[in-house]
Amino acid sequence: PALAELLNSRIRDVPDYPKPGVLFKDIAPLLADAEAFAALTQALADRAKALGATKVVGLEARGFVLAAPAAFAAGLGFVPIRKAGKLPGEVFGKSYDLEYGSATLEVQCDAFSPGERVLVVDDVLATGGTIAASLDLLRQAGAQLAGVVVLMELGFLPGRERLAGHLDGAPLETL
Ligand code: 5GP
Repeated sequence: PALAELLNSRIRDVPDYPKPGVLFKDIAPLLADAEAFAALTQALADRAKALGATKVVGLEARGFVLAAPAAFAAGLGFVPIRKAGKLPGEVFGKSYDLEYGSATLEVQCDAFSPGERVLVVDDVLATGGTIAASLDLLRQAGAQLAGVVVLMELGFLPGRERLAGHLDGAPLETL
């Protein structure tokens, strides 16, 4: 469809970043293009409304850049999931494995009121580790999952399969 073509045309492949052998999908040209960024923002906002979300959750850091304007466009609030140590007050934390070592994500304990439905937004679904940990955190924080929308999915990695057990029947969509 037209949206996917527009978005694809503004994503740049960067070989050997951040290390040799990795082909990095760079979204900077998309963010810098007013038409593409607006179309992406509107598409995310439309999904938030269609899925009945009451909050849009962005994953640090590129997820923030997509989720915050989408929340605004949908007339919804925004909640960040951050790397460990960045959020004040009481937080829930979830650690997950990286290729080398591990990382921890956090969300504030009081981020959600009872019954809230969240749309989770990030730029890339690769192995699925980041989103899987985020979904576990959101469950701990008492939020219901309305859905997950990513800008792109690296189809040669089993991210979608990895998330299957974490979605509770909510949709996982790729723009
Ligand atoms: P995963 O946890 O699914 O393996 O990795 C997804 C996370 O890593 C996302 O938060 C995403 O921002 C980042 N990421 C992994 N590969 C890429 C890539 O090729 N391009 C961009 N922009 N982000 C990536």
